[in-house]
Amino acid sequence: MSNIFKIAILPGDGIGPEVMKQAIKVLNKIRHFLNIEIVVKKYLVGGSAIDKYGDALPTKTLLGCEKSNAILFGSVGGPKWDYLPLNKRPEKNSLLKLRKHFNLFINLRPAYIYNNLHMLSPLKNNIINKGFNILCIRELTGGIYFGKPNGRKGNGINEYSFDTEIYYRFEIERIAHMAFNFALQRNKMICCFDKANVLNTSIMWREILKKISYQYSKVKLKFMYIDNAVMQLMKNPSQFDVILCANLFGDIISDQCAMITGSIGNLPSASLNNKFFGLYEPAGGSAPDIAGKNIANPIAQILSLSMMIEYSLNNKHITKKIEKAIEKVLNKGYRTKDLYTNQLNEKIVTTEDMGTLITESIIL
Ligand code: NAD
Repeated sequence: MSNIFKIAILPGDGIGPEVMKQAIKVLNKIRHFLNIEIVVKKYLVGGSAIDKYGDALPTKTLLGCEKSNAILFGSVGGPKWDYLPLNKRPEKNSLLKLRKHFNLFINLRPAYIYNNLHMLSPLKNNIINKGFNILCIRELTGGIYFGKPNGRKGNGINEYSFDTEIYYRFEIERIAHMAFNFALQRNKMICCFDKANVLNTSIMWREILKKISYQYSKVKLKFMYIDNAVMQLMKNPSQFDVILCANLFGDIISDQCAMITGSIGNLPSASLNNKFFGLYEPAGGSAPDIAGKNIANPIAQILSLSMMIEYSLNNKHITKKIEKAIEKVLNKGYRTKDLYTNQLNEKIVTTEDMGTLITESIIL
């Protein structure tokens, strides 16, 4: 790696620019401790780019991302652009294009529950008190969302529609190796959710994962049928470490993982390719209902930056410091509105305040 690390900042729409501002505060505090020169450039994306350039992913933005080492993304979309046809909307026309363009085939969503935020989870106390710390890994560029043929044919009662679930060996092998390596850095367990009692693709996933697991003897590999897995995730999430899924199941399961934490505003995500070029973004959307009110939770955006530092800059040391600072601020009872549960020690703070509190709590 050269000694300059370029970050393309794409704040996007809704709460995107508000929470991104807080992540930039954190970045400005830590940048001189990263042993590499950080260069940051902002670009328009999503609805705000449609307003200015008539395109959700203008050439200038795409070129800027190509010249960068990583993308820090806010969120895109909102009612203002809902009148547009699907293929012109901000989400489809920017985020999905970026994922495809950079071949970001692995999506990582950590889901854990902070000790003092148990109240937010919809799960019962006896389940949540065991805690959980899950890394949900979703295959992002293959499977039924992209398989050909797909479409709609025929007429009358014989009209039919079809989608194709297709996985190539190389697609499964490359994500498997990455998943095993992530598991090695954690509790060394992978559970793959599938439907191998019905689907050919799931059977092939199982065969390939089992074969690759011999190269990672320290990691325990398990499989679970998806229908049982959704129940197990509710009943006892603490049994899981790394969850690995094909695209469709991963899309659903990653949201279930988010829901059991009860705090979408805390959850970051990373989408990577095999060179660890990544797009880092909050798990939630642009939250138009609270945009511009200075009440959005910036933690997901700050943790997205923290994931960038871990995966694209390979600096777990600084990542830990950011995570510790967030925990410290939460332990002191500071909450954005979405995290407030009416407990005695809790104090509601604004987006700006939360960003400043976290930044000031980072001890370098
Ligand atoms: P959303 O995630 O934006 O909002 C769902 C709920 O969660 C809302 O009540 C919102 O206020 C709350 N929320 C989300 N993030 C929060 C935060 N950081 N702090 C506090 N509360 C937060 O989902 P939605 O309402 O279905 O979608 C709104 C828009 O966002 C739509 O246009 C959708 O297409 C778009 N979207 C974009 C992305 C993305 O850019 N990656 C992802 C999902 C949805």
